[in-house]
Amino acid sequence: MLYNSTENKNEVVSASQAIAQGISKDGGLFVPQELPKYDLETLKSLLALDYKGIAKKVFGDFLSDFTAEEIDECVEKAYTVEKFGGENPAPIAYKKYNGNDVNILELWHGPTCAFKDMALQILPHLLTKSLKKTNDGKDAVILVATSGDTGKAALEGFKDVDHTKIIVFYPVDGVSPMQKHQMNTQEGSNVKVCAIEGNFDDAQTGVKKIFTTSEIVEKLESNNMMFSSANSINWGRLLPQIVYYIASYCELVNAGKINLGDKINVVVPTGNFGNILASYYACCMGLPINKFICASNSNNVLTDFIKTGVYDKNRKFYTTISPSMDILVSSNLERLLYKLSGDNDVTTKEWMTALKTDGKYEVTPEVKAAINSVFYGGYCDDKQTQATISEMYKEQSYLCDTHTAVAINVYGQYVSETGDNTPTVIASTASPYKFSKSVLTAVNDSEQLPDSEFDMVDLLNDITGVDIPAPLASLKDKKVKFTDTVKVDEMPEYVLSALGVD
Ligand SMILES: *Cc1c(COP(=O)(O)O)cnc(C)c1O
Repeated sequence: MLYNSTENKNEVVSASQAIAQGISKDGGLFVPQELPKYDLETLKSLLALDYKGIAKKVFGDFLSDFTAEEIDECVEKAYTVEKFGGENPAPIAYKKYNGNDVNILELWHGPTCAFKDMALQILPHLLTKSLKKTNDGKDAVILVATSGDTGKAALEGFKDVDHTKIIVFYPVDGVSPMQKHQMNTQEGSNVKVCAIEGNFDDAQTGVKKIFTTSEIVEKLESNNMMFSSANSINWGRLLPQIVYYIASYCELVNAGKINLGDKINVVVPTGNFGNILASYYACCMGLPINKFICASNSNNVLTDFIKTGVYDKNRKFYTTISPSMDILVSSNLERLLYKLSGDNDVTTKEWMTALKTDGKYEVTPEVKAAINSVFYGGYCDDKQTQATISEMYKEQSYLCDTHTAVAINVYGQYVSETGDNTPTVIASTASPYKFSKSVLTAVNDSEQLPDSEFDMVDLLNDITGVDIPAPLASLKDKKVKFTDTVKVDEMPEYVLSALGVD
């Protein structure tokens, strides 16, 4: 299977090149030229497999220049019981919301308690193998812009991985105290963490610019290094996310909740559009999905886009209690537009260029109609998010985080608007303990909150009896190692000096 750039069809690479490079030279994103097809017979054969088994099958179909042994090794190293706390790294909680069944796919049982672990525990293995195939001897420098969860998950995935170095930038006021503490205490000899004065989009733009500045790229090359990306623009991030949609479908069939072949809806709390796009690819492969419900917080650029066909990032940026979705430029949307425009690299490039120059573009009526036939967009604000956390806790004894609550709330809106009661999988993207303050405020009747993050964690545990995930409990005693903050235009300098390259 070969991959090409969304902005230049003539840029064709192998799977390992796509993963090693992260982003195409022309600024486009790598996409598979065609998707493997899973008919009902294939899906039926997956019912007997565990998560790792399904992962091996899917990876094997996409990574045609990897051997079966290599894929086995990557999967076995990534999804261990030790790292994910159980044989199934992505279990489903069967609950109700507003009287409707909701199947909550918990994607946060990994080492950093957010769904990013599902991909970032395997990406370093895929990447080091890809580098061996494509770039003899070069060390990979992973640059990450994070809205909180990617940074920590990438740091945990890459720490002390041979021939890699990782540098993470996060918006100084744009992540939760727990997220900040998780990153600033990161161990490992090949890691750096730095705050930037700006929001997530500034960090992401800064990183993209460093990637494409030829003087910097050449400096690295002469020092036997090359950039790669752990952001969700990397195909190696997206592919592992396809697996859990297929696995959750199989689990619903095995649990007797649906029959093989029945359609489901999926609801995804969305930021950079990676997670929901993975469900869309799963559907294109043959997984029976009826609707993709794209849930946003007050940064509702995607809701508006789905309704109007106009993507316009020229709007107020809100800092919300679901910070991993505080994003105005959803990078992976480019992949969807490429697909829905009939693999049209020319129009995709035009739209992306307009986004860069005017902050805005409008898709054709055909593409808009194609989006509306399968996507629904909705959003809720912080107040509604907290009301949903409280409702789920009081009525279902289920504690969910802020991002998951946004998804549940928007699902409620969808059902009351459409009356559609197709069985539904809701992606739950983080542990409630990652956002203790907001979750505590929602479930605690008292106005008084403890001062420290860890006292809030303990209080939330006292009130609810829900276990604190071990990786968060052990953070309390870790030493802060990183305290740097730089301006956006100082990022290139920071990178060069962190690498010891002048
Ligand atoms: C990253 C993240 C999201 C958004 O996922 P995308 O793939 O960027 O759309 C949602 N919730 C949490 C907790 C996250 O960490």
